[in-house]
Amino acid sequence: LRIKFALFRRESGFISGIIAVLHDMTEQDKAERERRLFVSNVSHELRTPLTSVKAYLEALEDGAIDDKEIATSFINVSLSETDRMIRMISDLLTLSRMDQDKIILNKEMINLVAFLNFQINRLDKILETDPNDFFTADFTIIRNFPDNPVWVEIDTDKIAQVIDNIVNNAFKYSPNGGKITISVETREKDVLISISDQGMGIPKSALPKIFDRFYRVDNESRNSKVGGTGLGLSIVHDIVKMHGGTIFATSPGSGQGTTFSFTLPYLPENNDVASDDWDE
Ligand code: ADP
Repeated sequence: LRIKFALFRRESGFISGIIAVLHDMTEQDKAERERRLFVSNVSHELRTPLTSVKAYLEALEDGAIDDKEIATSFINVSLSETDRMIRMISDLLTLSRMDQDKIILNKEMINLVAFLNFQINRLDKILETDPNDFFTADFTIIRNFPDNPVWVEIDTDKIAQVIDNIVNNAFKYSPNGGKITISVETREKDVLISISDQGMGIPKSALPKIFDRFYRVDNESRNSKVGGTGLGLSIVHDIVKMHGGTIFATSPGSGQGTTFSFTLPYLPENNDVASDDWDE
């Protein structure tokens, strides 16, 4: 809210009137301010890895290239920074396409329980084989699903990305491993999907910000070893919203795990309409 005052004085000096103009900042002003902040964030986030790649390249040029061990390590760091930039740009492109409503959902009626079983089987396989040597701790994925099929109309690629991002975060932010519990609960007008981990948790003060673009809890200390762009949950949030659902996170406190819950529209009375199963 902006307030402007104008005073009217008589020649004698007496104040004969005051006009106060209350100016409510319009949605447009707010969008413009957010856009500027966003551009400044993007520039900063891309500049940091680029600066470090440049420093490594200069060091190589100045002679580090002659020491095979040092050269290899400098090249590896540069490659991982380049990967990070590529990930960030592809996340940004996804977000920008969603912003411009260029993404059209490709919805189909599927049985959510069968779909989630399929996704989790895939994650179980990754845990079992660990092709990228990613896991240093043990994880168990627990399924807490209703016995009956739950028919929902969703874009399966997009909701798979939602599950993937949330479960990958559960892996990333649970240094001691533990149980990851995925639950499905049907309610009057929607179905609630919850994903809980036993990891480091999220402080209360950070919970409202985690869906913001680029936001990472304690950017410097806690996440420095864990790669990420701070964009994953923004994408998750936008996809759930596009489906007409809502998403929120809860965490009892530091070290006590996190639960992400999101809803998808679901009408119990329509549930015997569809018949075929998720069988891809
Ligand atoms: P990032 O690329 O940093 O993982 P996200 O948008 O996916 O970005 O998440 C934003 C931040 O929220 C993360 O940096 C992390 O601090 C916090 N966070 C997300 N998921 C979890 C989780 N399961 N446990 C603890 N912290 C989490």
